[in-house]
Amino acid sequence: MISYKEAQAVVRAKAHTFGTDIISLDQAQGRVLSTVIRADRDYPPFNRASMDGYAMRWEDLQKGILEFQVVETVFAGAAATRDLPPGACYKIMTGAPVPAAANVVIRREDTEERDRTALVQRIPDRPFLNIARQGEDLSQGGIVIDQPCICEPSIVGLLASLGQNELAVARLPRIAIVTTGNEVVPVEAPVGPAQIRNSNRWLLQSLLKKWQIDPWCYQHAPDDKASLKAMLEKALRADVVVLCGGVSAGDADYVPEMLEASGVHCLFHKMAIKPGKPVWCGTTAENTMVFALPGNPFSCLVGFILLIQPYLQACFGLPLPSPLSLPLGSFKKKQTPLDEFFPVRIHGEPAHLQLVSLNGSGDIRLGMQANALALHPAERPDLAAETPVMYFSL
Ligand code: AMP
Ligand code: MG
Repeated sequence: MISYKEAQAVVRAKAHTFGTDIISLDQAQGRVLSTVIRADRDYPPFNRASMDGYAMRWEDLQKGILEFQVVETVFAGAAATRDLPPGACYKIMTGAPVPAAANVVIRREDTEERDRTALVQRIPDRPFLNIARQGEDLSQGGIVIDQPCICEPSIVGLLASLGQNELAVARLPRIAIVTTGNEVVPVEAPVGPAQIRNSNRWLLQSLLKKWQIDPWCYQHAPDDKASLKAMLEKALRADVVVLCGGVSAGDADYVPEMLEASGVHCLFHKMAIKPGKPVWCGTTAENTMVFALPGNPFSCLVGFILLIQPYLQACFGLPLPSPLSLPLGSFKKKQTPLDEFFPVRIHGEPAHLQLVSLNGSGDIRLGMQANALALHPAERPDLAAETPVMYFSL
């Protein structure tokens, strides 16, 4: 049986780009930038007052001058129109360009304002105090972003500053979702005593939303070979197919057999993890990637986080996130000889991984309130509280 790390390497080795899209900035959230971004000018573009106050020559202060004549008030968005005679100053607002003759700004709080004069009450210890200097953040033409990165809010803000209204981003794959099972009914339908609602469809859709991916097609297959085969015919026209259920050892688990009958070549079946062990993964001659996850909701989540997300990241040119670890909040017993994944909440100061209640992989609560998936490695016996434990952020 393959380890989860080997499985990640196998699926990432199959990754390929889906092309590039040009989108506007308002569509950028969660998309992955695919070009180098350079600064179109210096940032700040001018010496910018970072406080409301008075701008003068540092040298005048050095000479012992404390009372300055105000020659002009400089507001944000406008340049000064007057020269600066010796012993004079500008009244200046945050965000305004500091005129070339001035090289220090004294905060308003550190002066006494009189009629058209400012009396400095606290002498600065250096020139350029309270001035953000032109180009100190970025210089014109310099590379700001040189590798694929997710447009998180701070990146979106940065791109706006740089005037990047149109962006080249990694194109999203067409993803087909196929859920299976005679007992599984749509969320909006009446549910019989032996039936359950289809939660995994929505779990998967929600996980994909984080990448701004809406499924290209969705189907539900009953547990019979012919229907499954018919549905796979359409699904396999997608770039990625995600199936759920029907991959384990049950008498009605036809998914691996029907995938192979549809021309999908198996990359691996079963991963040495708990939960989520029966996962099946394969690929077609046309490079369609197929992930068949077990039907239990928590197994489905684990399969997405461990395999599908790393695959998508590789397709978008993103590295595998580096592992993080934190001390465990309480004792955890080892249950199997496998790598065990369990839901935790990163919590507290200093932060710990708190165990989140979960009655096995079929628990519909899905580790509610968990914000990470922690790993109890195969080779480790029971984990004592305070043991550092690796986790994947959710
Ligand atoms: P399976 O992997 O098909 O053997 O299913 C394992 C468990 O997951 C069973 O209890 C199924 O009823 C349940 N299950 C399968 N598919 C879904 C689904 N789409 N949503 C919620 N639970 C499911
Ligand atoms: Mg089933």
